[in-house]
Amino acid sequence: MDCLFCKIIAGEIPSAKVYENDKVYAFRDINPEAPVHVLIVPKEHISSANELTADNAAVVADVFLAAKEIAAQEGIAENGYRIVNNCGSDGGQTVGHLHFHMLGGRSLAWPPG
Ligand code: 5GP
Ligand code: ZN
Repeated sequence: MDCLFCKIIAGEIPSAKVYENDKVYAFRDINPEAPVHVLIVPKEHISSANELTADNAAVVADVFLAAKEIAAQEGIAENGYRIVNNCGSDGGQTVGHLHFHMLGGRSLAWPPG
C-alpha cells in the first residue's frame, strides 16, 4: 500500500519519533504550526475518521492515552494542548492515514481558521 504514514511507521521513511507502543506511533510534524506539534497515528492503516467502525475505534482511545503520556514527556501537560483530527478535503486532511495533531507550547487561538 502506498501510504506515507504506513512507511513512516515501518521506518522506511525517517521521522523524529517521540513515542511508540504496540498500537500507536507518534512523531514530530515536518512543518510545525506550534512549538510542540506531534502527529499521533494508529499503527493500523485506517484512511480517515470516516472509516472508524465499532471494530477498530479502540485505537482512538489508544491515541488519547498516548497523547497524555506525550504531553508529560513534552512538558505541556500543565499548560495544556489541543488535539485535532482533520477529516476529508473540507477538513483539510492531506494524508490518507488517520492521524491526530497534538499542538502545544503556546496559547492557541479559537476557533481555528
Ligand atoms: P493533515 O493535513 O492531513 O491533517 O496533516 C498532515 C500533516 O503531515 C501535515 O501537518 C504535514 O506537515 C505532515 N507531514 C506531511 N508529510 C510529512 C512527512 O514526510 N514527515 C512528517 N514528519 N510530517 C509530514
Ligand atoms: Zn497508512
